[in-house]
Amino acid sequence: MSTGDDYTPAARLRLLQTEFLQPGRGRHHERTATATEPAMPIRAEVYDHIRAAVDEATEHTRAAAPEAGARPREADQVYSWMVEQTAHLAPERQRARDTLIYRHGLEHAIVMGDFKTVRRHACPSCGTWGLFWRRDREAAVCVNRFCADDDGIAHAWTLAQLAEDHITRKETSARRAT
Ligand SMILES: [Zn+2]
Repeated sequence: MSTGDDYTPAARLRLLQTEFLQPGRGRHHERTATATEPAMPIRAEVYDHIRAAVDEATEHTRAAAPEAGARPREADQVYSWMVEQTAHLAPERQRARDTLIYRHGLEHAIVMGDFKTVRRHACPSCGTWGLFWRRDREAAVCVNRFCADDDGIAHAWTLAQLAEDHITRKETSARRAT
């Protein structure tokens, strides 16, 4: 399953709810998963993931905009609510918000087993397109053999670092365009 660029973080959250959390669906997935497919997450894990994401988004918003009212009832509305409640804040605050939302989009994809999502990002260090997800390290590792630290260990990036890099690049190219 691909949850590519056309999926916003909110759409991915919705997908998690409809495809991975619905009664019966998750069990079906678990039973049909084969060795070649990434193991489907168990429902409790998805449930905890969604709850943690919504909580983090809510806390971030309340800290940045204490006057923000109650969060929306529907989990997938939390990101548009975040943007609305913080649209008046300074650019760096909005940048932090955008980075959080983007990171959540990556996290949702990883929970769904869509590890290819990290390949759509250039390595923040060498700029080449060779990142792959290492589940054991919970990091995106660069395949460029010239891109390693002094001990020859390949560069590895957390989703937070990839999100930070993505938002920075987006801002830089937006500035260049104007
Ligand atoms: Zn690299």
